[in-house]
Amino acid sequence: NAPNPPRPIRALPDQLISQIAAGEVVERPSAVVKELLENALDAGATQVTIRLEEGGVKRICITDNGRGIPPDQMPLALARHATSKIASLDDLENVNTLGFRGEALASIASVAVVTLTSRTADAAHAWELEGSHLGTVVPSSGAPGTTVNAQDLYYNTPARRKFLKSEQTEFGHCAEVVRRIALARPDVTFTLTHNGRTVDHWMASDMAKRSAQILGESFAEARLAIDEGSGVLRLSGYAGLPTASKARADCQYFYVNGRFVRDKLLVHAVRAAYEDVLHGDRFPSYVLALELDPALVDVNVHPSKIEVRFRDSRAVHQFVFHAVQRALAQTSATAHGSVPS
Ligand code: ADP
Ligand code: MG
Repeated sequence: NAPNPPRPIRALPDQLISQIAAGEVVERPSAVVKELLENALDAGATQVTIRLEEGGVKRICITDNGRGIPPDQMPLALARHATSKIASLDDLENVNTLGFRGEALASIASVAVVTLTSRTADAAHAWELEGSHLGTVVPSSGAPGTTVNAQDLYYNTPARRKFLKSEQTEFGHCAEVVRRIALARPDVTFTLTHNGRTVDHWMASDMAKRSAQILGESFAEARLAIDEGSGVLRLSGYAGLPTASKARADCQYFYVNGRFVRDKLLVHAVRAAYEDVLHGDRFPSYVLALELDPALVDVNVHPSKIEVRFRDSRAVHQFVFHAVQRALAQTSATAHGSVPS
């Protein structure tokens, strides 16, 4: 019973490699929105407009007023493993941009019809590239900044398309991604439209206003400001009072160096801090931003970068736990009328 003879090993074509990567990087429209928004912010944009059609499946168009891409670089922007953000292993260990894998635009272009339009500050006009890195860059029009238009998502990957949910569900995920990013960057103006209707419009302001706009006045009226630590480790933001807690964990925003993360260790640290003030079946609401030396955290753990790994996770846990606990303790002291003057 001899085994079948081996099948020949072949190098995969470029397009297929990108489509495989797309399964991890841009598995649904909201992931495309996240990647494009991160690119806009990495380009220094102060104004970003997100236009979606049919939950993003028909069209995702994101326009920013960032620094733009010179025409000769536009094909590279759509090429796989090409990035302006890191150049060496050293850079990888000190990432201070949201992106660095050079994978997003190539992945998106492999599963959607992409048009990249961009203009740098000193250019006389914009330039445009359609399709892939193999296309031709042609003159176009538009203000300084970049627009990425992605249409007919997953038109060529029917297996992936089958996993998409209803228009409303996909839109909901996209809108949540915009909220997450807008909460981290109150200094940037965001506009979100769906099927031609403006859904959200947040003018640049500060954290207090932005979080009230996005999480509602009820959160704004029942929150504690936190700003602890410095240099090596700093935690800032707002922890909701027990009265702002929820039956579901849907108002928990944690950022590490400006990046929204869902991290067991951090969720646990915050939850533990609420132990004495919150009933076990309630979920605290919070917007917390942890800043630390980028060399002390590895963000290259997961393609979507939603998970991170800390070099000293015990120290981070302790720090977050104590910072939140101290803030909460002050209010219970106030409530009992025993606040020191
Ligand atoms: P990464 O963000 O990991 O570098 P991407 O595929 O998302 O990879 O983007 C590739 C490159 O294209 C970026 O490194 C950047 O130089 C350029 N780029 C992409 N989007 C924009 C944008 N909105 N504004 C300016 N440059 C951009
Ligand atoms: Mg990117």
